[in-house]
Amino acid sequence: MMQPLPTPTEIASAIRNVPDFPKPGIQFKDITPLLADARLFSGSIDLMIGNFKPGMVDAVVGIDARGFIFAAAAAARLQAGFVPVRKKGKLPYHTHEEQYDLEYGTATVAVHVDALKPGSRVLLIDDLLATGGTAAAAAALVQKLGAEILEISFLIELKFLEGRRKLQGHSVRSLVSY
Ligand code: AMP
Repeated sequence: MMQPLPTPTEIASAIRNVPDFPKPGIQFKDITPLLADARLFSGSIDLMIGNFKPGMVDAVVGIDARGFIFAAAAAARLQAGFVPVRKKGKLPYHTHEEQYDLEYGTATVAVHVDALKPGSRVLLIDDLLATGGTAAAAAALVQKLGAEILEISFLIELKFLEGRRKLQGHSVRSLVSY
């Protein structure tokens, strides 16, 4: 039976704020209560997919690690493939890598060189948009493979960090923002 889609308020109520994790000053958004709720998890996937229907997307690209949870479910629902963008050193085959800046230091994400065919239509997904560095690096990898990004979708957006600035030119969706 079709259940009503969750409202942003319902989704937000299932996201737990954990102060000072993993370090002082960070308000960590813990999505495990949302994942454990069948209606909210399933409804969040539907909302993150937006108006895309099966046949419109070739691959859903998910970002390591919580992005995988939503991207894999979205891929199955859209009858599309799932492609992981992983932290450097995790993928076994030949990779392209993209480095980006963190508050202190840098990080690197990677994708298999044959993960996407040129021209394939991609929905890019992560759980949370903060400064936008991770998503921008993942988007650059998708484009390096010659694929087309239709939309970038997040469960959560931390608006005050202005991560959308790094994603200019892309259609960006988020379900709840802080
Ligand atoms: P950024 O590159 O700054 O946009 O950071 C986004 C990535 O870091 C996402 O993959 C998130 O899972 C993670 N992240 C950043 N800030 C938080 C936060 N406050 N709570 C939970 N995850 C976060």
